[in-house]
Amino acid sequence: MNVAENLEIIKNRINEACKRANRNSKEVTIIAVTKYVSVDKAVEALEAGAFHLGENRDEGLTHKFDCIGNKAVWHFIGSLQSRKVKNVIDKITYIHSLDRLSLASEIDKRSVKPVKCFVQVNVSGEESKHGIEPEKVIPFVKELTGFTNIQVIGLMTMAPNTDDASVIRSCFKRLKSLQKEIKDLNLARIPCSELSMGMSNDYEIAIEEGATFIRIGSSLVGNETGGV
Ligand SMILES: *Cc1c(COP(=O)(O)O)cnc(C)c1O
Repeated sequence: MNVAENLEIIKNRINEACKRANRNSKEVTIIAVTKYVSVDKAVEALEAGAFHLGENRDEGLTHKFDCIGNKAVWHFIGSLQSRKVKNVIDKITYIHSLDRLSLASEIDKRSVKPVKCFVQVNVSGEESKHGIEPEKVIPFVKELTGFTNIQVIGLMTMAPNTDDASVIRSCFKRLKSLQKEIKDLNLARIPCSELSMGMSNDYEIAIEEGATFIRIGSSLVGNETGGV
């Protein structure tokens, strides 16, 4: 299967999930996660019409950006060390992994314009996962109102690694309810209207629960491991 064929299948599934949830599929943006694959595959995704690309390391992002540039809209989806912010900040439009004030402060300082950020929440509580505990998210976003270059457009999470769909679904539901709660606070520069959730194995559940950005790697562009 090539990327265009995979994309077709994924779009059909997105449409079906949207129908089940009474949603418009235009609300869902596909991010092609290219961290496992070569530049060629990333270009294939682009040519198939997936022009939102996601990388989780600064080296991968920089390498692909050097080849592709602003023909794609770039998303940084991995945990980001503050000292690496300067390497990626002028290339990306979205950051999905804002999880601490020191990182917000560095983004605020290094960017010349507001950056679209998702606050990453560790809903599942798994120790291996990054992100803020759900109970701490509201105090955290309140502190973010002090940074003029931080725009919190939404929340992001990764579902636990399990085959139990009900566990995954309740994780997404929790993120959705937190997102609504924050949106209703009407804080400056915190519209919090978006939800980044759902990957290759769980994007249909995520869409049923309100995802507006889904991050798809292996089932879209494949997994060649070591794409950088
Ligand atoms: C790798 C990665 C994805 C994509 O994972 P797949 O299961 O291959 O679709 C999505 N989000 C994040 C944060 C990732 O690191």
